[in-house]
Amino acid sequence: MQQEVIIVGGGMVGLSLALMLAKANIAVKLLEAIKYPNYDDANLAPYHSSFDARNSALSRRSVQIYQELGLWNALQEHATPILEVHITEQGSFGKARLKAEQEKVESFGQVIENAWLGRVLLTEVRKQPLIELIDGVQVTSLTQDADHAKIEAVRGEESLSVQSKLVIAADGRDSFCREALGIGADEHDYDQVAIVTTVQTSKPHHHVGFERFSPLGPLALLPLPGEYRRSVVWPVKKGTEQEWLGEENDQHFLDALQETYGDRAGKFQKTGRRFSFPLSQVLAEKQAVGRVVLMGNAAHTIHPVAGQGFNLCMRDAYVLVRSLTDQLAKSADIGEPSMLLAYEAARLTDQQRVIKFCDSVVRGFSNQNPVLKLIRNTGLLAFDMIPGVKPLVANYAMGLKA
Ligand SMILES: Cc1cc2nc3c(=O)[nH]c(=O)nc-3n(C[C@H](O)[C@H](O)[C@H](O)COP(=O)(O)OP(=O)(O)OC[C@H]3O[C@@H](n4cnc5c(N)ncnc54)[C@H](O)[C@@H]3O)c2cc1C
Repeated sequence: MQQEVIIVGGGMVGLSLALMLAKANIAVKLLEAIKYPNYDDANLAPYHSSFDARNSALSRRSVQIYQELGLWNALQEHATPILEVHITEQGSFGKARLKAEQEKVESFGQVIENAWLGRVLLTEVRKQPLIELIDGVQVTSLTQDADHAKIEAVRGEESLSVQSKLVIAADGRDSFCREALGIGADEHDYDQVAIVTTVQTSKPHHHVGFERFSPLGPLALLPLPGEYRRSVVWPVKKGTEQEWLGEENDQHFLDALQETYGDRAGKFQKTGRRFSFPLSQVLAEKQAVGRVVLMGNAAHTIHPVAGQGFNLCMRDAYVLVRSLTDQLAKSADIGEPSMLLAYEAARLTDQQRVIKFCDSVVRGFSNQNPVLKLIRNTGLLAFDMIPGVKPLVANYAMGLKA
């Protein structure tokens, strides 16, 4: 008999996971709170809560997973490779450079527009006979007994009850499912808000990504399709975001970028609309309870400083699908609690490494202490000069270590 799992939450992780499961011949019922848009040619990539104005740096491992799913050709249309990474700190002499060529890889990853990623994933999900997509439906209850996990949901006046041997909760940072299961979360508010937009510069990007640590926050400038377009992610202190949002602040924002970057990117000529995202780290105390497993931001939400969050989720999803496939090959229970606990244990090392790395980068560079600053400078220099350090960091950023 065909096994079916339920996924709660159809954001970037829920949809990607549904496609991985379908490829493994596992049927999926996917419940998403928001009504998805209909795409037409005039409306190439309308925003959806998860597929918004952001751009994501996809690691090489994530790109490989989309290649395996046969989606990379469609995604590539709105993606561009990162061939070099420059890390610098405003007002200091330290600098680190990574070159794909030197690391003997094609690229460090690809930057893709989230709205396009959403469009491609959703279009594919809608074509898949093994995926039943139920959108505009809010999950309001999650319970479980020895054999099943049970869900109640509402769509307008309508109510819905479904059950499965396995529920995967990919319902985001403020996960309802996590709370319904009584799973605590360790939360740290970074007191920062990421300002996100697209800018146009007078110099072409030549596929170079910049990470610049400024007194306002670590500023990432990544190449986008189109030689002069770049994606900006700038975490600033919470409460100061209004200074940067709104059309009336366009010039002020461009001036701040210019001051922070100097002329590395040429002149900052145009900015798109800015959006803001509050930044916190939210780590679930457990990721598997009974027949439910947490996935994506519901399991671990991290700071976007190194563009690692979604890539980590993709590796989790990949390993989970492999565990489920092994279960099916043994004709075993697809939601067996001990198998889910083993999955969680298998993922902890990679998760903790990424979580610690991102958190320490944010905390380390947020501190203006002059001694720390000196260590950072020598650290960046060492990074650039000591053989062996670069390939390690590069491999790690590409997600190939997992
Ligand atoms: C500014 C910024 C930049 C980033 N850049 C990068 C990057 O370059 N590279 C990278 O790897 N990562 C990046 N990340 C991280 C990445 O965005 C997240 O890892 C990713 O969005 C997590 O997706 P998700 O599907 O788990 O959660 P979400 O996108 O939050 O999706 C959760 C979904 O669940 C639905 N839902 C919630 N509650 C319910 C309910 N009760 N019933 C039904 N549905 C429900 C929601 O509607 C939503 O669609 C960035 C993050 C930020 C903030």
